[in-house]
Amino acid sequence: MRKITIVGAGQSGLLLGLGLLKEGYSVKIITDRTPEAVLAGSVMSTQCMFHSSLETERQLSLNHWEADCPKIKHIQFCATAPREKAQKIIEWTGDLDRYAQSVDQRIKFSAWMEEFEALGGLLEIRKIDASDLSSLAQQADLVIVATGKGLNDQIRRKNPECSPFDAPQRKLSLFYVQHPDQGTTLDRVSFNVIPSIGEYFVMPVLTEHGPAEAMLFEAIPEGPMDCFSRNNSEEERLIKAREFLGEYLPWEQQRIASVVLLTGQSVLQGEITPTVYHPVIQLDAGMQLLAMADAACLNDPITGQGSNNATKAADTYLQRILEHTDKPFDQKWMEDTFNTFWQQAQWSTQWSNMMLMPPPEFVLNLLGAAGQIPELANRIANAFDNPADLFPWFADEQAAGEYLQNLTTEVEH
Ligand SMILES: Cc1cc2nc3c(=O)[nH]c(=O)nc-3n(C[C@H](O)[C@H](O)[C@H](O)COP(=O)(O)OP(=O)(O)OC[C@H]3O[C@@H](n4cnc5c(N)ncnc54)[C@H](O)[C@@H]3O)c2cc1C
Repeated sequence: MRKITIVGAGQSGLLLGLGLLKEGYSVKIITDRTPEAVLAGSVMSTQCMFHSSLETERQLSLNHWEADCPKIKHIQFCATAPREKAQKIIEWTGDLDRYAQSVDQRIKFSAWMEEFEALGGLLEIRKIDASDLSSLAQQADLVIVATGKGLNDQIRRKNPECSPFDAPQRKLSLFYVQHPDQGTTLDRVSFNVIPSIGEYFVMPVLTEHGPAEAMLFEAIPEGPMDCFSRNNSEEERLIKAREFLGEYLPWEQQRIASVVLLTGQSVLQGEITPTVYHPVIQLDAGMQLLAMADAACLNDPITGQGSNNATKAADTYLQRILEHTDKPFDQKWMEDTFNTFWQQAQWSTQWSNMMLMPPPEFVLNLLGAAGQIPELANRIANAFDNPADLFPWFADEQAAGEYLQNLTTEVEH
């Protein structure tokens, strides 16, 4: 029986581990926290997952929270005027063809870790560092590194062609809140852009305490949204959030007038330098490991793609391992496996990196036109599930002009 070791029990590592177990492989997952520690730990993400990722979880019978989790049916987009505070200049709502959902990673990962053990997987709790990797490689047919943001700089080589940034482009501040009595009634992701200042997202999430809302601030460093300090208490940071929204997005402040922070480590601050790494990790002893998901391709969460990419990566790697039957997992197989994943991930990476930059005028025109053309709003909304559909027309001025011209002609007729 083939022995596979996965380092990291997050979205990709657990999905792949559970998928392989169900196919009869002998799988070990080594991760740095117990299920109890994950459940009792801090919030980690907004983890909005779109239809095709949810389908992968359904196919593996891992969608345990689907009935209870709020359904996200729309993407609501708003951009404010560049120089006047709190003035909307673009506003539209796009309908998702099929709903998205967000299950707090703390409940999902802790439950999946327990399920992995119950199905016969070996779960080892240990923090891995670079010096552990050779012995892991000697003991398994294949080692997959799925440590997300962990371990990266110790062992990874950056791919400069696909990594345009050397520093984080946003300061991230995440709050999980509930409305008294109802938790949340939100059925959409609300996506607000404040030019030169940052972005603000709100969406419903299912937590251990029932339905709640995740509020994510993506602040351009040192601007007015970059106002949250780790030295302040979670309550003090929520007060800051209310003050900021009151000044820049008052309609969003009204929505959270009565919310309270969710019990237990419900605020997170962080920053990410978007980076694509060479996926094959070469060890001195001539052995190789394969990186997966964020460990190979780390994006800022501005377009909510990371968990979706992690799911697509796990699904791709699972199929590739099964197809490979008992042949050796050599460097070529590893590179081809990552490249199969990259066929999809390149688009979310390109889109996420684009959205971190000031938008060119033709992109503003497209976003503005979506307010008049529902078909365009719906297409942009559904591209969260399939970012490839945005290319080339969302990234190329001439293609954007032609697409818009065709759409406008269709609307006029
Ligand atoms: C604020 C924020 C908001 C986000 N919002 C969204 C969103 O709306 N939609 C979306 O799709 N994505 C979102 N993401 C991204 C998404 O959460 C991640 O991309 C996704 O979880 C990555 O999956 P992964 O399997 O690569 O890694 P992870 O899920 O991060 O798992 C990594 C695992 O490795 C373990 N580990 C780390 N280092 C070590 C080590 N040295 N030894 C052993 N174990 C280790 C960790 O404990 C964890 O179990 C967001 C991220 C952030 C920070």
